[in-house]
Amino acid sequence: MKTISDLRAKFITGDYTPVDAVEEALAVIKEKDGNIHAFLDVYEDALGEAEKATKEYKEKGKDIPPLLGVPIALKNNILVKGRKATGASKILENYKAVYDATIVAKLKEAGAIIVGATNMDEFAMGGSTENSAFGPTKNPVDTERVPGGSSGGSAASVAMGAVPVAIGTDTGGSIRQPASYCGIVGFKPTYGAVSRYGLMAMGSSLDQAGPLTNTVADAELVHDIMSGLDKMDGTTIDKDTYPELPVKEKYTFGVPKHFLADGIDPDVLQAFNDHIELLKKAGHEIVDIELPLFEQGLASYYIVMPAEVSSNLARYDGIRYGHSAEGDTLLDVYEKSRAEGFGAEVKRRILLGTYVLSAGYYDAYYGKAELVRKKMREELKEVFKKVDVILTPTTPTPAFKLGEKSDPLAMYKQDIFTVPVNLTGVPALSFPMGEVERDKKSLPVGVQYIGPHGSDSKLFAIGKTIYDKRG
Ligand code: GLN
Repeated sequence: MKTISDLRAKFITGDYTPVDAVEEALAVIKEKDGNIHAFLDVYEDALGEAEKATKEYKEKGKDIPPLLGVPIALKNNILVKGRKATGASKILENYKAVYDATIVAKLKEAGAIIVGATNMDEFAMGGSTENSAFGPTKNPVDTERVPGGSSGGSAASVAMGAVPVAIGTDTGGSIRQPASYCGIVGFKPTYGAVSRYGLMAMGSSLDQAGPLTNTVADAELVHDIMSGLDKMDGTTIDKDTYPELPVKEKYTFGVPKHFLADGIDPDVLQAFNDHIELLKKAGHEIVDIELPLFEQGLASYYIVMPAEVSSNLARYDGIRYGHSAEGDTLLDVYEKSRAEGFGAEVKRRILLGTYVLSAGYYDAYYGKAELVRKKMREELKEVFKKVDVILTPTTPTPAFKLGEKSDPLAMYKQDIFTVPVNLTGVPALSFPMGEVERDKKSLPVGVQYIGPHGSDSKLFAIGKTIYDKRG
């Protein structure tokens, strides 16, 4: 298992250098990625940067940026100047980014070395990475199964041991769900904590970028580097405005039992109950909570998200960038470019979104869903007066087999525990809570710790004591 802190300690002593680390990352990719397909692009020239970083360690010793020489992988909906940014869509197959996303500029500034771009569901729409226009990614834990999605390539790149950290984006669970399926840590920040400038927009009121790592401490380190106010994204917030949330020894955890009543795999429920026992033994308090509106989360999400998707994806018109089809009229070019360039799931969501935003249906669908969303926030605020953290499993099942969920609704149901978090804008951390047996294989499953608005650092503090320090 690779961690940033181990790498950094070794870099400082000089026993192991950034050149060694990047060579190793490239070697792991070469050995395993033919089968796993976590990467859409591998940057061999990363070695040049690794040489520079190695020199810097020799010259400066300890006084160096926090990620200097650390190999990292980025989901391919994050813009890196001069590199292909495809969003795993045919429509952007040969598109190259013309600027760095704010988070990329920050990661580079901190010394991280980007070794490649990871596979994903097309424009981040999906939960298995099977919607990639360039073929699916396999789960390194069991290659018959999906790694989850949409940041499946990012999760797999960490789980296969190529990099200690990969960046994903999360609109309805796309960091936490693959983290759960691949047995690693994933973090979805408070909405506005991380700049969205230079990320391909899916659902702009829901999207956040975050880390996938092997430890909570690493996730915190990388999140701290990526987050902060950015004049290029007006929704970013100043960390100083976050509420004071004291770090305590013992916490109160709320469990929405009614919400876990059906549709959840009994083995996952068992692992979840075992995790609760572990918390009780450590002296934490567990209380039952009611979150009736959370049950409406999926229904609201699958209205709000496609509405935003339909307007965000209007920009892919065959004129400004990406694939452009021949046509007799301008409208013809639009229609053909979009028909040829987008995959089935993306088209489905554009249609759904256009429908719910249309004049006659706006109030009945979009208006209602936004109302539910507002009520969900109020409901959550009340609950957080009584508890520090809300606990749910991250996903209702372990990783499923490739091709198993051909019905879109079956796929959407995997998001039941994750979408309420995006709808309400709060942060959530997922880390492994145990394993369940399937076909004589042990598959990891994650637990989700949901905190109130702005509680990002508190979630890390709790996660570090519970997960990183586990016996
Ligand atoms: N699986 C969810 C969806 O398909 C979440 C996607 C995401 O977070 N990008 O919309």
